[in-house]
Amino acid sequence: MSKAPLAISDIKPLIDDYLRRHHPDICRHWFHEITVSSVVGGCVSLRVPERVHRQYLQRSCMAAFTEAAQAATGKLVAVKFVGDADEMPTRSPSQLGVTQAPSELDEQLTLSPDYTFDSFVVGPGNRLVHAAAIAVGSNPGRAYNPLFIHGGVGLGKTHVLQSICRVILRQRPQSRIGYVSCQSFSEIFMACVKAGRMQDFRHRFRNLDMLVVDDIHFLSKREQSQEEFFHTFNSLYQAGKQIVLSSDASPNDIPDLEERLVSRFNCGLVARMDRPCYETRVAILKSKAALVGAQIPEEICSYIAARIDTNIRELEGCLTKVRCFALANDRTIDLDLAKEALADDSLGLSSSAQPSIQTIAEAVTRYYDIRLSDLLSKRRHKSISVPRQMCMWLARKHTRYSLEEIGGYFGGRDHTTVLHAVRSIGQRKDLDPDIANAVNRIECVFARPSSR
Ligand code: ADP
Ligand code: MG
Repeated sequence: MSKAPLAISDIKPLIDDYLRRHHPDICRHWFHEITVSSVVGGCVSLRVPERVHRQYLQRSCMAAFTEAAQAATGKLVAVKFVGDADEMPTRSPSQLGVTQAPSELDEQLTLSPDYTFDSFVVGPGNRLVHAAAIAVGSNPGRAYNPLFIHGGVGLGKTHVLQSICRVILRQRPQSRIGYVSCQSFSEIFMACVKAGRMQDFRHRFRNLDMLVVDDIHFLSKREQSQEEFFHTFNSLYQAGKQIVLSSDASPNDIPDLEERLVSRFNCGLVARMDRPCYETRVAILKSKAALVGAQIPEEICSYIAARIDTNIRELEGCLTKVRCFALANDRTIDLDLAKEALADDSLGLSSSAQPSIQTIAEAVTRYYDIRLSDLLSKRRHKSISVPRQMCMWLARKHTRYSLEEIGGYFGGRDHTTVLHAVRSIGQRKDLDPDIANAVNRIECVFARPSSR
């Protein structure tokens, strides 16, 4: 009856197998790099060389790995993710060059393990951004500074920003990288102001080797933060440190952004991301499937890519729906199943296709070839006022915002203005072929019917 004790080398394949069967969602292709380093005192130590991977495991996979390790060993073991033994010296503050505790440094840098250049598909819409990002990654502070990336939602800005951080961290693990969303920059700033700890704030942001701020357009709403960001920017820039920013609009088109910031953002490389073409969308779906080790037939990638042409997040959402549907119904993934999974309205596209006000504004500015700042401005010229009315009418029709809220978004206008716009476009679209055509063309960007 006595079983031979389990050798350490046997444990990992058992864990892998368990995870694949019970927790396919968390599995990543790099899990094969994880090894069991020891089993001591009821604790299985798993060696994970890369910090970003370790963070992901600690954040999202602890329970699943514990379960898997217990199933593999048949014992009530705990699980620990450890780095390379030779990584320990980097934890000394003197080597970090700042008095910051390493744990604090770790915390600031929460990167997704999925966002790397390897998993980024390059196509005509993002070729420039990709090339610039690669250049910055291999030559920070010197290639393009600042690098300013702008484009619509879900087109891959955050993915590129994090990929840059990743390559730099790989090549120079000691780099002090500040990666923050614009909101957290403002929040940290406000908290420091309130606590009277501006020294800490400046110490934290002005001693970096690279500052990466995601969604910088939110800065326009916060005057004090703009001021502080300006000084942070200058101090890093003058010291030759790399700055990378992302935004939903080009520097000139961010409303209410101080002129001195606009000119600073324009002084490096401003690169725009466009929507991916069909071939790129298919390639992205394949890359996403490969990332989670899912077998998705080519025809399904083509089917999804043909239906969704707006935003990559929605493409991914469809892929996830198909996989969940197959798993829940214990069926293999084929085209019929994909159609079924995506036809269901409660899960389906119509809900995800509900546009945000930003998506509407973006579609309208693109159609009329005007700038977002014009739309939000006080200008009353017909070339601007018609698109603005169109936005209001579309926002009323496709979102749940009130007249006041819509007016607020489009340049702080009164609800009667919105009402007038809604009525005017509502009537004209039945009489004026230009308006009718504009409505059709703009709506098909975001209000695609759930099956066609
Ligand atoms: P944004 O920040 O522009 O709103 P994200 O970077 O969050 O967009 O991207 C949305 C999703 O689309 C992410 O899961 C990202 O990995 C994926 N994605 C975007 N562009 C690409 C690409 N070119 N190749 C692979 N995945 C992509
Ligand atoms: Mg983003």
